[in-house]
Amino acid sequence: TQRYDVVVVGGGAAGCAVTASLFKRNPELRIAVIEPREQHYYQPGWTLVGAGVFDRARTERPMARCIPHGAHWIHAAVAGFEPEQQRVVLEDGNRISYRALVVCPGLSLHWDGIEGLRETLGKNGVTSNYQFELAPYTWQQVQNLREGRALFTQPAMPIKCAGAPQKAMYLSCDWWLKQAVLAQIDVEFCSAGAVLFGVAAFVPPLMQYVERYGAQLNFNTDLIAVDGHARRAWFRQTDANGESRTIEKTFDFLHAVPPQRAPEFIRQSPLAGADGWLEADHETLRHPRFGNVFSLGDVCAAPNAKTAAAVRKQAPVVAENVLALLAGRGPQAIYDGYGSCPLTVERGKVVLAEFGYGGKLLPTFPLDPTVPRRLAWDLKVKMMPGIYFDLMLRGREWLAEPRHLPHQPLAVEAPAACDF
Ligand code: FAD
Repeated sequence: TQRYDVVVVGGGAAGCAVTASLFKRNPELRIAVIEPREQHYYQPGWTLVGAGVFDRARTERPMARCIPHGAHWIHAAVAGFEPEQQRVVLEDGNRISYRALVVCPGLSLHWDGIEGLRETLGKNGVTSNYQFELAPYTWQQVQNLREGRALFTQPAMPIKCAGAPQKAMYLSCDWWLKQAVLAQIDVEFCSAGAVLFGVAAFVPPLMQYVERYGAQLNFNTDLIAVDGHARRAWFRQTDANGESRTIEKTFDFLHAVPPQRAPEFIRQSPLAGADGWLEADHETLRHPRFGNVFSLGDVCAAPNAKTAAAVRKQAPVVAENVLALLAGRGPQAIYDGYGSCPLTVERGKVVLAEFGYGGKLLPTFPLDPTVPRRLAWDLKVKMMPGIYFDLMLRGREWLAEPRHLPHQPLAVEAPAACDF
């Protein structure tokens, strides 16, 4: 078996960012990144692809250009973990050994959780910005629609970028308003949840846009089945007494967001908690049962908003705590739960929601964060792709300095040095 100081599972936002943060602190490390895909995606751009603001090519780069130089890219998928032996198992049965493991394979979009959806995606006016191939279809369908009913759905939490289902609605409505067809379109937002946005401070400015666009909000209304050909959708609607019934809606346009869960190989692994997500201390991001295992990004069970913005702050925390472990020290860097959701309420304006654990507001700029701003739109559209590819994935940690705990005792034995 090959053995590395650090094995990183997944070369997405989290895997590349944490690898770059580790090399920035210690260029001598032997790091392997295990990632099966050829392409890396800047997923936050897909909301803008669905609104015709970005070309989808801007959101895709060859993986070879994203995995930091110096790391050994193992072009394979991980199938399981043997944490007692400090090994991961690849799909072909090969095993890779590590001193420290960082687990960040993202989450799994459960398209089959909605009956009939997979068959009709990309046809019959049914689309989703949650997939690279489909985001351009959203824009095409938005431009084609001039009357009828448009449904936007949101599944149960947690999902990645909890604001993305409604961002698709606002940008579509903005277009229809500017084309003077919005009055002929019935817009409905159907959410499995009970509130428009999880952090109460941002609900009033969002409600102003819901009213401006005349969108109807249906809470506790979960999409369960679609017949694209017949243009019908079924929802499980739950009332205040917890009684549920199935309701049917016809549509001309449907923007669906699938239910989301930890990838199967994580849910089946000894690293998962009862809910299937990868267990981690919410502050140190270290596994509570296997002391040389860390996680970050969408797979992590910590109750932060699952966003690339969260990854930007988590990566230096994990990098510092991994290095402490390799040096025989306990974790000292602390993650405050920061996540961000730039709510694109219209072309040219964004409500920049930035918050940490417990919904604590954590604005980067000294401005009222609940006000829709042009500045925040420019940040999202003009600066964010560069911040992502050229800073975050390169270990240039912009405003991401972690807080530190006083010295911690090490709960596990420091892993033995590699004998190369
Ligand atoms: P990913 O970036 O998804 O990467 C996971 C990687 O793991 C992938 O490369 C995958 O191939 C790999 N992998 C999977 N299985 C295995 C395996 N078995 N073995 C090895 N590797 C594996 N975030 C924001 O901050 N702001 C936004 O405005 C925003 N908007 C969004 C809009 C949409 C439509 C979507 C879909 C997401 C949005 N996000 C946004 C969320 C953001 O993209 C994710 O939170 C972020 O990509 C998480 O990073 P990650 O590395 O955990 O997962």
